[in-house]
Amino acid sequence: MLVYLNGEYLPAAEARVSVDDRGFLFADGLYEVVRIYAGQPYELEEHLQRLLAGANALQIEYHDVRALEPICRRLIEENGVSGNGIVYIQVTRGAALRKHHFPPKGTQATVYVAAKPHTGYPSHLWEDGATAITMPDNRWARCDIKSISLLPNIMANEAAMAAETFEAVLVRDGVVTEGSHSNVWGVRDGRLITYPASNYILAGITRATVFRLAGELGIPASEGLILAHELYDLDEVFLSGTTVEIMPIVAVDGRMIVDGEPGPITRRLLKTFRNSLPR
Ligand code: PMP
Repeated sequence: MLVYLNGEYLPAAEARVSVDDRGFLFADGLYEVVRIYAGQPYELEEHLQRLLAGANALQIEYHDVRALEPICRRLIEENGVSGNGIVYIQVTRGAALRKHHFPPKGTQATVYVAAKPHTGYPSHLWEDGATAITMPDNRWARCDIKSISLLPNIMANEAAMAAETFEAVLVRDGVVTEGSHSNVWGVRDGRLITYPASNYILAGITRATVFRLAGELGIPASEGLILAHELYDLDEVFLSGTTVEIMPIVAVDGRMIVDGEPGPITRRLLKTFRNSLPR
């Protein structure tokens, strides 16, 4: 498996990052996960723009996100990812003497890109629906930045796994924000609701796709608040994200959503989404 690291293409086993890298020492960096469908990176431009916005927000000296496109394409090609796959991109503030404040100007950002085949989660999760638990959202107040600092997400997702569920639905001040690695949607009286794009969630690329598809299908959709205690009484619940795509949630905290079957609006959105993908 060939990867890209700081200007070089090399076998993954030979790729080395400094122990002084601020990604390693401080989780001082950003990442993106891009889906590959039929050998093509999906919504790559949107992911690169989000990476750039993150670099600007964190004042990481990395601006030429355009240069990542040919890198992604070359890795897809050279690694023979002709079907479904994943591109992983990570940019850190680079290697420097360990000080909390920024390193000297001109310190090179560390740039890592990998592309590999990906079969995805088991298909029954989309067909029969997945389950979730609620967990406190104890992340910082800049969840809009796709930082590699993911400990709260990891702890919440691990709790979900330990409870033999798929996702942790995060709750801040009694309100559902998002999942540990997905955006959360509710359906009430035929209308889609998801937490407002703000500093408290990552505005998912797939979230934007769901708004677009809903518009095309004539399904009303808006940003709004889902109170944690109302979650169980919604007509439908689903997740959106690069890897989860549009995934029905049929039970939360062991309580079934309606009859415990994926809802009709979720099914319609998923079908339309899948049909829109390159093949
Ligand atoms: N929220 C969080 C916390 C995530 O990690 C993800 C997955 N990147 C998402 C939402 C969904 O974002 P996207 O649709 O861009 O993958």
